[in-house]
This record gives sequence, C-alpha cells and structure tokens, in this order.
Amino acid sequence: MAKILIVEDEPGVVDLLRALLAAEQHTVEAFSSGQQALAALRVFKYDLVILDLKLPDLDGMEVCRQYRAHGGDAPIVMLTARGDVDDRASGLDAGADDYLAKPFHVKELSARVRALLRRPAARRADILVAGQLKLDLRTRTVEWTGRRVPLIPKEFDILAFLMRHEGEAFSAEQILERVWPSDASIQAVTIRTHIKNIRRKTEALGAATLIQHVRGLGYVFEASACSRS
Ligand code: CA
Repeated sequence: MAKILIVEDEPGVVDLLRALLAAEQHTVEAFSSGQQALAALRVFKYDLVILDLKLPDLDGMEVCRQYRAHGGDAPIVMLTARGDVDDRASGLDAGADDYLAKPFHVKELSARVRALLRRPAARRADILVAGQLKLDLRTRTVEWTGRRVPLIPKEFDILAFLMRHEGEAFSAEQILERVWPSDASIQAVTIRTHIKNIRRKTEALGAATLIQHVRGLGYVFEASACSRS
C-alpha cells in the first residue's frame, strides 16, 4: 500500500486512476493544477506521483523540474500523448522515472506503478552531505562543521540545487530556469548576488569556496572543497 499523488486535469482520467489505485489498496490524492500539486509536494510525502504533461497552469515538465530541484525523490510517471517521443525524452530529462502514453490500458499502468514502487529509493536524500557541509531538505537548514549557515530561502534553494547536481556547471540563467517558477520576474543578476551571499556566509564560518565559477560554463558545486576548512 502506497500513498500516490495524481496530478491531472481531466476528470475522467482522474476517476479511472483513483478507482484502479484504490482497488490495489493505495491511498490516492488528486490535484488538477500544477501549482496545487507543488504546494502539496512541499508539505507531504508521497510514494509515487502520476503527473499529466498538459496541465492548465504549469506543465508537468515544470512541476517535475521544480519538485526535483527542491529535493523531491518520489518516483514520477509522466502521462503524455501517445507517440510523442519528444515529450518522453524531455520528461525523463526533467526528472521523470517513466512515462505512459494516453490512452493507456489499466494493466499497463498497474504494471508501471508496481515496478516503480518496488524500486529502491536511490534518489532518497532528505539530507545532503558533502564533507563538512550538511543540508537538510526537510528542515531547510544548512550547517558547516555543525554550525548553522544563515541562508535565506532562495540561497538555500540554489545551494540545494547545485549540491544535487554536484560537479555540473550551470549558468545563472540555467539556475534561474531550474529553481524558479517559469513566471518569476527575477533576473540572472539576482542569482549571482545570491551565490555571492552563499559564499560569504559559508566562508565566514571557515569554509573554502564551495561554489566555483567556471568561465564560459557557469557555477559548479565542488564537494571536494567541503573537506577543507
Ligand atoms: Ca491534461
């Protein structure tokens, strides 16, 4: 028995999924908007998310990206239109684990759900640790050698995102796209300021430069820098 979140705006599909998953003894919750789903995902834990690609507000891809950027680790099945290979590729790229084309056969869905629920939670990481740096996604706190780093929420989000993608470089624009809602009226220069502040606050506690800037590529979180102090 698992707790499953359905994010889908077509009532017929929601009813079908509900009936099917309830018959398999799962606890089911459903939202018809991406924003509502993200709000629930921030507060509650689900074992699996079934996410429609075409939602009235944020699309499924964006929901997926934001959920993953904030450390969400539940497996995600993306519902797409049949045969849309591009959607599948970008869905998997955004952090979905599997996809299912609509209209789907109930047995097909059942099989995917069972397979994903059996999969060990490889991505499970409520607490990210790199050397002396510890970031807790549930309490949204960061510590360096056990001492609290006083980050504001956006600084925390950026650091969490970069830690989850350790060793990968992202430009300020890419960080903006991945960490902020797509309708945010925020500029790349703000990202640079936030990163400067993350550095200043961690260095004030004796850390080395945790986020490097690589010319032409962008910002990289270096776990190796976290063992020095
Ligand atoms: Ca839809």
